[in-house]
Amino acid sequence: MPFTEQRVISIRKWSDKTFSFTTTRPDDFQFENGQFVTVGLRHNGKLIARAYSIVSTNDVDYLEFLSIHVPDGPFTSLLVNVREGEGVLINSKPTGSLTLKYIQPGRNLYLLSTGTGLAPFVCLIRDPEVYQHYEKVILVHTVRTQGELAYRDEINALTNDRLLYVPTVTREPFETTERVTDLFRSGTLFSKLALPAADPAHDRVMLCGNPHMLLEMRAYLEANGWTMTNYKGVGNFTVEKAFVLHDGG
Ligand SMILES: Cc1cc2nc3c(=O)[nH]c(=O)nc-3n(C[C@H](O)[C@H](O)[C@H](O)COP(=O)(O)OP(=O)(O)OC[C@H]3O[C@@H](n4cnc5c(N)ncnc54)[C@H](O)[C@@H]3O)c2cc1C
Repeated sequence: MPFTEQRVISIRKWSDKTFSFTTTRPDDFQFENGQFVTVGLRHNGKLIARAYSIVSTNDVDYLEFLSIHVPDGPFTSLLVNVREGEGVLINSKPTGSLTLKYIQPGRNLYLLSTGTGLAPFVCLIRDPEVYQHYEKVILVHTVRTQGELAYRDEINALTNDRLLYVPTVTREPFETTERVTDLFRSGTLFSKLALPAADPAHDRVMLCGNPHMLLEMRAYLEANGWTMTNYKGVGNFTVEKAFVLHDGG
């Protein structure tokens, strides 16, 4: 049986569209920080399951997830009604390409995200090992409204000279309103942080966000001398979709 039933321990609402929840951790469930796993619910006798990045690090005894609420979404319209103490199903096989194994060590590590694409990066910035591989870790998170800046206080509390955090909000007045893609491509990100421009010879990039952001960033990076991790080898950037578009868009 690849799924085991786990109990929801806590739920935290960030905005109308986003919330986090923690569950018990299945016995013998091992994962690498940055991976995702399939989470399921039973509805009318059928299993509905979706991929979810794990926000909690692998040294704690619970699992934590950050979720969107898609109105009419088959899975999240059920998940949003699950209460503390109730069950969710967790698959036994985590996977994913946003782990330290899938990216070369280097100078600065850029974690570029939109929306719930933040989830694997919250896990990584909590992991002390990440700071052994890179001098600085730069987390950029783009959302539409301030309420969607999940984990903002916790991330701010973790920031120091090794972890830099750049939240950006595109549809409300905010200190930074450019999209992550534009900040990186224009170089504004580097001047803002007083860092040398990202260089494929020294720096590394992890991307997790909406499919359009990933396409744009991948095209830009590949046109500028960066190499993506794939079956041929570990490159200086690695990518994971934060979700898949089901409308053909
Ligand atoms: C590798 C991977 C990791 C993922 N990790 C997460 C995660 O950590 N948290 C999370 O909330 N979702 C994550 N997802 C998306 C998740 O699997 C589901 O799509 C999501 O839970 C919505 O399920 P649904 O059945 O309600 O809607 P679906 O039928 O799955 O999606 C309907 C539509 O909603 C939109 N949508 C779906 N998910 C999102 C999202 N996360 N943000 C914005 N728009 C979305 C898309 O336009 C999609 O076409 C991940 C997906 C993949 C492939």
